Amino acid sequence: MKKIWILFLCFSSLTIQAKDYYVTPADISKLKEILGNNTLRPGDEVILRDGIYTGLGEVDFSARGTNTDSIKLRAEHAGKAVISGALKMRVYGQYLQMEGLFFHKAWAKDLCMIEFQKEDGVYASHCRFTNCVMDDCNDPDKSEKPVKGVDPITVSEYWLGLHGKNIRIDHCYFANKRARGLVIQITVEDGGDHNHHQIDHNIFGYRKPFGGNGAEIIRVGNSWSSQLPSYSIIEENIFYRCDGENEIISVKSGFNTVRRNLFYESRGGLVCRHGHNNIIDSNVIIGNQLPGTSGIRIINQGHTVSNNYVEGVTGKGSSAAFILRMGVYERPSAPEDYEDEKLKSYHRAANIDIAFNTFVDCAELNFGDGQGDKEPQNVRFAHNRIYSPNTFPNIKINNPAIFPGTTFVDNLCQF
Ligand code: CA
Repeated sequence: MKKIWILFLCFSSLTIQAKDYYVTPADISKLKEILGNNTLRPGDEVILRDGIYTGLGEVDFSARGTNTDSIKLRAEHAGKAVISGALKMRVYGQYLQMEGLFFHKAWAKDLCMIEFQKEDGVYASHCRFTNCVMDDCNDPDKSEKPVKGVDPITVSEYWLGLHGKNIRIDHCYFANKRARGLVIQITVEDGGDHNHHQIDHNIFGYRKPFGGNGAEIIRVGNSWSSQLPSYSIIEENIFYRCDGENEIISVKSGFNTVRRNLFYESRGGLVCRHGHNNIIDSNVIIGNQLPGTSGIRIINQGHTVSNNYVEGVTGKGSSAAFILRMGVYERPSAPEDYEDEKLKSYHRAANIDIAFNTFVDCAELNFGDGQGDKEPQNVRFAHNRIYSPNTFPNIKINNPAIFPGTTFVDNLCQF
């Protein structure tokens, strides 16, 4: 019995060591010291009192929490600790959580405002960014339109850069991004662990049309890493008037799931741009007949597109309510995985199942759009419903070479 009590006392003394550090806007240097100097222990919390925190500049949030005792950086009152001005925050270590913070008129000191890594090879894992807001965070020196003749990266700004693994972004609100660049970029590290990131229950609000490429809301991977699996999940988010460019979500890696999201009056599409074996399930896309609205674009291999509902989308061709594209190259074999031109292009669509989707009042479903002579192979389009009480839907076979590799089974079309 005595032994048990001694053990109990030991555990008790361990758990009471967690500390709360309160910080005010006058304590910027103290805040940076606490976050970056290996001060924090499992269960500790850094709590920002109400106020506007400006001039943070470069900040490292680096510590190692545990799965039972994460380390938090949070607002004392959600939404009342406002972070603004130039920011380059590096989050790395494990089980770190940011909560209740309001980023308003902050911007990226370099390329990315908050990056979940220190540098290549030193990443974050099991971190969470929750109940935060990022609104109107745009570098005043960066253009809100495409700039010709410069490296696009120099005029880009990313809000969240996800590296490492098991990062969760949830219950946040993002809106009014205007400069080139992503709201969330997931990087798939070559030779790293699979990401298993999760982006869920967020609202992505208005983003005005940028006028060129590079203004997606979320990109999962890059062309150069597109043959690698990410295993990330994007679910139960709302994309409301995300008009940045013609891709809202650009999937550029493998084994991701995009499900149960709502895209409302957003002038862009859900695009499997690169990579293979992705699942696009139970998403709702409502275009309300606005110009520039589009649906689901499929290219590459092994995807499942099921149970999605698309209504009132006006786009045609590569922006149609559904588009299965022609390929330019075969899927790269391992030795070709690093050929730049090939990785930036389109690989033959194959082994794809498109089933139980519903398209209502959409302008076009397109099979075989785009350049290239690699026709789709082993594609099944089955049990889909296409209903148009007001307009005549154009089910366009853009390239007859899609047959016989595409099979249509038991679809119901009602005009
Ligand atoms: Ca794009």
